[in-house]
Amino acid sequence: MRIGIGYDSHRFNSRSGPLRLGGVRIPHARGLAGHSDADVLLHAVADALLGAIGAPDLGELFPPSDPRWREADSRAFVNEAVTRVRKAGWQVGNLDATVIADAPRLGPHKTAMRRTISRLLRIAPSAVSVKAKTTEGLAPGKAGIAVQAVVLLKPAISNLRQRRISLWLKQSPPEADQPSAEAVRKSRTRKNRTAR
Ligand code: MG
Repeated sequence: MRIGIGYDSHRFNSRSGPLRLGGVRIPHARGLAGHSDADVLLHAVADALLGAIGAPDLGELFPPSDPRWREADSRAFVNEAVTRVRKAGWQVGNLDATVIADAPRLGPHKTAMRRTISRLLRIAPSAVSVKAKTTEGLAPGKAGIAVQAVVLLKPAISNLRQRRISLWLKQSPPEADQPSAEAVRKSRTRKNRTAR
């Protein structure tokens, strides 16, 4: 297993919105300042992936000084990070992210962000969590948006092997529940009798 953590923050700019978060266009009076499309959530996700495999970080791979990444779609950054993860022999287990923003309200967009990120990471939406928190008026407050993301990687296995495993799981009987205290007591009594 490998674990990676990503963090990013962007200020709101003076231009009007919408802003992009998790690859989703979110209506808001102000957009975020940045060289690329300023998708602060995808930047944190990409850095978590890159960190987990010990690769150079987002700023090193896609320097803001490079005009190629001007207004770039940040989904390309995540795609590059996922490709590197696969090449290194890993696949994403799950991702957990917290978006820290006093505005806009992100509740109505969480499902769309989750779905978009899960597609980028090639995992089920249930393995992606996007949580929204306000700062309760503390910094960075209304000045911008910050994101923390944590990702878990597991060794990549081929599709064929994955299919074999799921077939085997279907055939094998469900795991027994934890034995009750009563069952344990009875089995101990039985063992004791046999011992005597
Ligand atoms: Mg950034």
